[in-house]
Amino acid sequence: MMEKRKKIMLPETEIPTKWYNVVAEMKHKPQPMINPGTKEPLKPEDLYPLFAEELARQELNETDAWIDIPEEVRDKYKIYRPTPLVRAYGLEKALDTPAHIYFKNESVSPVGSHKLNSALPQAYYNKIDGTTNLTTETGAGQWGTALSFAAKTFGLELAVYMVKISYEQKPYRRSLMQTWGAQVIASPSMSTKAGRKILTDHPTYQGSLGTAISEAIELAMQTPKCKYALGSVLNHVSLHQTIIGLEAEKQMELAGEYPDIIIACFGGGSNFSGISFPFLRHNLSGEKSTRFIAAEPASCPKLTRGHFQYDFGDETGYTPLIPMYTLGHKFAPANIHAGGLRYHGAGSIVSQLLKDKQIEAVDIDQLDSFEAGILFARTEGIVPAPESNHAIAATIREALKAKEEGTKKTILFNLSGHGLIDMSAYDQYLAGDLINYSLSDEDIKKSLEAE
Ligand SMILES: *Cc1c(COP(=O)(O)O)cnc(C)c1O
Repeated sequence: MMEKRKKIMLPETEIPTKWYNVVAEMKHKPQPMINPGTKEPLKPEDLYPLFAEELARQELNETDAWIDIPEEVRDKYKIYRPTPLVRAYGLEKALDTPAHIYFKNESVSPVGSHKLNSALPQAYYNKIDGTTNLTTETGAGQWGTALSFAAKTFGLELAVYMVKISYEQKPYRRSLMQTWGAQVIASPSMSTKAGRKILTDHPTYQGSLGTAISEAIELAMQTPKCKYALGSVLNHVSLHQTIIGLEAEKQMELAGEYPDIIIACFGGGSNFSGISFPFLRHNLSGEKSTRFIAAEPASCPKLTRGHFQYDFGDETGYTPLIPMYTLGHKFAPANIHAGGLRYHGAGSIVSQLLKDKQIEAVDIDQLDSFEAGILFARTEGIVPAPESNHAIAATIREALKAKEEGTKKTILFNLSGHGLIDMSAYDQYLAGDLINYSLSDEDIKKSLEAE
């Protein structure tokens, strides 16, 4: 009998050489993004002032299904890729389920999450474009830490506007960014017009992602050779993240199985897209009928309770208009610990796929998410990021359903990150101090109508 395999590893030579661009193979393409100034469909040139040119082209590429990964980026991916595919025998046993549960472990990256998969190519394309400085925003700090390491790797200076309340509550993410050489500024700050205005009107304002984005964009627009970078939502970010699913596809093949269900947590959609799209292409071609489930927080339910409409990607309205499932760009989510999932909208590709019923979404309460995360930690050893706990909770639901039905399902989920820098959240859960947040239809309606 063959020995049971816990981890399925690939050699470095198997790091994919191309990313997969699902848009090229979608029957219904997403509606175009709109330039709010001209009201015309967005052109790559519209994005050049903000992003490196190759990133702007990737953003709007609807024709090439495969896009080369630059050798310099592949070389840096070797620091942590390929990541392991792991069979969750411990969790299966605890649930007493006939389902086979696999997870792709993106927590092994040096920054502790999948975000480095896009930070590295974004820094690289900026470098070859002649950019010397990058700016970005960060909420809980995962994107800022990933971009800090990527910027240092490719010799760029980085300024990160970090939401003030997180700057004060998550000192270790700030320390990580500073260790990798980034300059971290609590937002709102006095260094931009947007920041000064808010601080003058509300001197004690604790900051929000919307304000931090405004500050980062303003600095990029005013500074020569300075560009802006975003860690989720946009198409080029999802494209870079497909490296997750492309590796997982090879690894599932080595395991001798094909997933019936694929699950990931959902903030702006990058890790969900990353693990899903390479498998989705076999659904689009009619060979397979895998279910894809996005797990979002019940307190920020854009996929399950939002509207499909054109909306801005940020609170201030600096970004193009994006066709998306949204709660409205003024939506202020409750202060849950899964900071990376507190975003009002979904990327345009995922939104179209949901509209076309190619994918599904579920919402998870904060307490259920932590209960799932604790069970996972106790059975598989890894303490998951609060965001990833949502994927685990959705996985557990499906595994228990399989048990009820007596069917052997193969489930693959993405472990988007570890929670070792989020232990204060676990402390609060274990002390019984966390709560669920409910959202009324009236709240959602009001937020959708806010200008
Ligand atoms: C940022 C983040 C997320 C959410 O972002 P997506 O773009 O939806 O993937 C999920 N998990 C972790 C660990 C994160 O850092």
